Amino acid sequence: MDAEIITIGDEILIGQTIDTNSSWLAQKLDAIGINIKKIISIKDSEKNILHQLAESESSAQLIILTGGLGPTVDDITKQSLCKYFNTQLVRDEKVLKKIEHFFISNGREVLESNRIQADLPKDCTILNNDEGTASGMWFEKNDKVFISLPGVPYEMVHIVESEVIERLSKHFNLPVIVHKTIMTEGIGESFLAKRIEKWEKSLSQDNIQIAYLPKMATVKIHLSANGSMSNKKELDRKIQRKVNELYQIIPHHIFGEDNISPEENIANLLIYKKLTVATAESCTAGYLAHLLTSTPGSSTYFVGSIIAYSNAVKIKQLDVSESDIKKYGAVSKVVVQQMAKNIREKLNTDFGIATTGIAGPLGGSRNKPVGTVWIALASKEGVYSKNFQFGENRKRNIKHSSYAAISLLRQHLNGQLKIRLK
Ligand code: ATP
Repeated sequence: MDAEIITIGDEILIGQTIDTNSSWLAQKLDAIGINIKKIISIKDSEKNILHQLAESESSAQLIILTGGLGPTVDDITKQSLCKYFNTQLVRDEKVLKKIEHFFISNGREVLESNRIQADLPKDCTILNNDEGTASGMWFEKNDKVFISLPGVPYEMVHIVESEVIERLSKHFNLPVIVHKTIMTEGIGESFLAKRIEKWEKSLSQDNIQIAYLPKMATVKIHLSANGSMSNKKELDRKIQRKVNELYQIIPHHIFGEDNISPEENIANLLIYKKLTVATAESCTAGYLAHLLTSTPGSSTYFVGSIIAYSNAVKIKQLDVSESDIKKYGAVSKVVVQQMAKNIREKLNTDFGIATTGIAGPLGGSRNKPVGTVWIALASKEGVYSKNFQFGENRKRNIKHSSYAAISLLRQHLNGQLKIRLK
């Protein structure tokens, strides 16, 4: 079943509003087995709307529009829909009462422009908007469905979740789709694909589709299979079997399922194991601490941090040996190990994590080019350190270093790889 999404609004076309509605809608529709053929953004003009409706109708069975339903004169979606479906606006008393209540209960005056929002096309099914005053609309024409939704994202989301998904599933008798997302880290998309090549090929025997979704330090592996309600259990079993196989192939790189982030995952692990951590950060300058505290409940495991950006702070606040800095340089194994050990002792935590590196674009040398980063993890048993070579982009280096540090801690907590602290 093919669908097209049309977002309406001049502000999208001049780059003032990022079209998040389409990506959210596309994910929701994809999850229920609807194939998105096209996403189009058009101007707020009747001519454009009518032209696009006709074009989309000729190639899709479902057409979803967002935007242009507000009370101002430039909002002309409703009028354009009336013209397209050869119908007229009539005032809906139930919607009018809701609009009046919406304003009066907020101590605001009801303007005529607000009442006009209760004027809706005669031949549509009204989709309730509990979050605002612009109702959604559902039209049917020659086995095709047209849905018009407000542009304000939370209003659109509310209508889709409360009414649209259920209506679509019933109307189109959609297939059942089973999804599973496996979160991986510490391996780039192309290396990952090579590593799991054989496994990936075997998916087609079970009619399972795969998609790789890389984002910063992670690559999501998204599996999906479709069928009917009667064989849903079998689909679940098939996907789970493949997921289990994947755990056997790349155990060190999988850190979770279903869109969990590395920072959420490490938070869960630390809370579960009742362990604490502190950071000593040079090149990441607090970004690692930020990630470690971005999850609710972080005060149970995160104790504090010293941002030791200059050598003076490394020496004075972290007791790093001045002669070692001179001898080996601030970006070195010796220094990062001292930073990790000393922050752990100073803040009395189970783990100390340290970062030191050359984020760039300046400061690189032949031996230590931009992107050279040392990360260390210390515990009471000892300290482990690792050298990384990231790229030339400063912002990405800071983020990659922080996620690599989280990854080392995770691998240690899971007893994986050769992260032995001694
Ligand atoms: P309302 O009746 O609440 O005014 P509307 O249907 O008229 O809603 P628009 O006027 O088109 O919606 O947009 C209202 C706001 O919603 C915009 O200023 C913009 O911030 C946001 N918005 C509109 N379209 C999108 C979109 N495609 N993606 C993300 N945000 C959007």
